[in-house]
Amino acid sequence: MSDNIKVVIKVRPLIPREIEDKLFYQWRVNQNTIYQIDQNGRDIGPSFTYDKVYDKAVQTSEVYNDIAKPIVKAALAGFNGTIFAYGQTSSGKTYTMTGTDESPGIIPLAVSNLFEMIKDIPDRDFLVRVSYVEIYNESLTDLLDSEKKVKIQDTLQGLKVDTTEKLTTSPEEVLNVMKEGKANRQTASTNMNDESSRSHSIFQITIESRKHSDGEESVGTVNVSQLNLVDLAGSERAGQTGATGLRFIEGTHINRSLSNLALVIKQLSEGQNKHVNYRDSKLTRILQNSLGGNAKTSIICAVTPAAVEETISTLQFANRAK
Ligand code: ADP
Ligand code: MG
Repeated sequence: MSDNIKVVIKVRPLIPREIEDKLFYQWRVNQNTIYQIDQNGRDIGPSFTYDKVYDKAVQTSEVYNDIAKPIVKAALAGFNGTIFAYGQTSSGKTYTMTGTDESPGIIPLAVSNLFEMIKDIPDRDFLVRVSYVEIYNESLTDLLDSEKKVKIQDTLQGLKVDTTEKLTTSPEEVLNVMKEGKANRQTASTNMNDESSRSHSIFQITIESRKHSDGEESVGTVNVSQLNLVDLAGSERAGQTGATGLRFIEGTHINRSLSNLALVIKQLSEGQNKHVNYRDSKLTRILQNSLGGNAKTSIICAVTPAAVEETISTLQFANRAK
């Protein structure tokens, strides 16, 4: 596996609703392996091994330090990076990416870390811009200007996506832009979860830097890199949520784009550079510049501890992507 692509698993704890329903842990973690267990804690099913498996008590800050911080650092040095949260609805994707006031997620941690690291590089001037888009049924919405029709174009300089960008100068400003965008997100209820997210959301931070100059000397090369923080749509299969009509169509789009993501990551991790299926879905298409080459990618696969079938499917996705 390429050093530039990491796939890890995060098991969340049982939540009050599940404890009330007398659900129990169907998975145990030992080092970097996850085992299926029965009600008495005995191993019964398959086991799976990954770069890292984080058990229920592990805090997001630890996950951040292991697999996101190096990407943020690389982004400051001019390398593109992407962090994905994958998993069924209610597995902890948003908790991991956005988090709460008590437990900030990867995005707020990355943002505050980014501005701290910038302070430590006094010989360069930085510009930080953010954009926020959502993909729903293969169509792209600009969450910072929902009226806008986003155009994707191939140019001589590479792919150009003309999303609204906001210039930010502090972590607070970035998080406010994010809040603004979140209010525009598409959510619809399914049988599984009222707030189920049927869309992919991509929070993008563009970092531009040049050598600090006091006027006279030449400014030198400009480094531009992009950091993408992606909260993917729920991975549960369309049929399983009892979906019909629009919900079924949503499910089909989600399944296709997630399978294509696994395919693209696999092609890249096998060192393939020429025939990568970026164009087969909007998600990989708009991330095209940020995947592959020297870019760094981490996928956090979020797991519901009391689910078997969907968890196996998530673990298999993680295997496919490796
Ligand atoms: P998803 O975004 O995958 O649909 P959420 O992030 O909304 O899932 O998580 C589902 C529920 O589980 C939420 O109530 C969330 O607060 C809770 N949860 C997720 N991860 C944790 C965790 N590590 N510790 C405590 N509660 C968690
Ligand atoms: Mg969510």
